[in-house]
Order: sequence, then C-alpha cells, then structure tokens
Amino acid sequence: MRIDTHKQLVKISAPLHVESSTIRAFLARNQNWLEQQVEKRPTTQVVQEGSLVPFRGAEYRVVIDPSVREIEAKADGDMVLPARGEPVLRLQRFLIAQASEDLRARADRLSAQLGIPFRSLRVRDTKTRWGSCSSKAGLNFCWRLIFAEDAVREYVVAHEVAHLKHMDHSPAFWAQCAALCPDELDIEAAKSTLRREGNGWHALIFDGSAGR
Ligand SMILES: [Zn+2]
Repeated sequence: MRIDTHKQLVKISAPLHVESSTIRAFLARNQNWLEQQVEKRPTTQVVQEGSLVPFRGAEYRVVIDPSVREIEAKADGDMVLPARGEPVLRLQRFLIAQASEDLRARADRLSAQLGIPFRSLRVRDTKTRWGSCSSKAGLNFCWRLIFAEDAVREYVVAHEVAHLKHMDHSPAFWAQCAALCPDELDIEAAKSTLRREGNGWHALIFDGSAGR
C-alpha cells in the first residue's frame, strides 16, 4: 500500500490472483495507519528539480538544464527550465502567463458566442473558487487551472461567461452553460476533476518557502 500525497491517492498493489475481499480486509486492518498517514500528509509541496508538475492535463518532471534559454514542456514528459536566476519562480511566471493567455482566449470566444462582452478579466491565485463573475461583468480565474486538461478550463470559462447573462445557478443558467460547452464536454467529469485534484494543485508552492 502506498500513499501518493501529490495526487491524494492510495494505491494498493497485489498479485492478480488475490481476491478483492482479501484486499478489502487488508485495507480494513490498516485503516488506523492509513488515517494517521492522511492526517500527517503535507499540505504544501515545494516544487524543485525532480518534482512532478501538471500542465494542461499531463504530468511533467521538472528538469533544470543550463543549456536551454526558454522553458519547454517536452513530449517526453520533461519540463525543462533554464538554470539562470530562480528557475522555479520562472516556471511559475511561465504557468501564470500560459493560464492568462489560454483563459482570455476562451473567454473572448465564449462571450462573443453569447453576445455579451465582459468588462475585465483577471487571473490570480484564488483559493476558494476557480472562477467568478462580478455584477460589473468582471471575470476572475485561478491561474492554477493551467494544471487541468483543456476541457476543464473550457467548462470553468463557459460557467463564468454564462453568468454574464444569468447571475444565479438557475436551470436557465445551466442550460446556457451547457450550450456554451462543446457537445462532447462532460461537465460532471470536469467538476469532479476539480474536486479531486484541487487540493493537490493548491498545495504546489513555487517559491521555495515551505509552509506558506
Ligand atoms: Zn457559478
């Protein structure tokens, strides 16, 4: 049994022939230990060389390479950072810039589709909400949404853009939100990804100061 604090998962490995009832009994016997481990798990995780960092729905390993000049998310799963300055801080600025560009492009497209413009768009490190829409048509998003796959960001932006028309969560709002999402987008799956991954995404610290 192994606890993945990053993904907040418990993994149990067993040979194929082991019955699931045996695994459940094993889990029950170790429940106290498991609960202790969950309580002890770190609430923050400082990103450094070798850390795993999600980006656009895939997981990358942070590699510092003095020979590169620009940050690159490579197809082989390496997130390569230049060695100059403070590489991890630079990675955070890169992620925030990617989030801003991505979320703005989605908001521009979806608000044009709705036919109602927004007045401002801000991308910040919001802790409690992934997005919000003010009564003055100001959209706010959490930059950590760049960790998610495209469909999750599409849903969050469609949700906030739909609030430009309906400032509530009425059936009319949800119908508008669904109309803005592509047919193949599973809104419930996007919501459950946010619930499942959210704590892990917020736990990632990029400035080297632990426990903040
Ligand atoms: Zn809402």
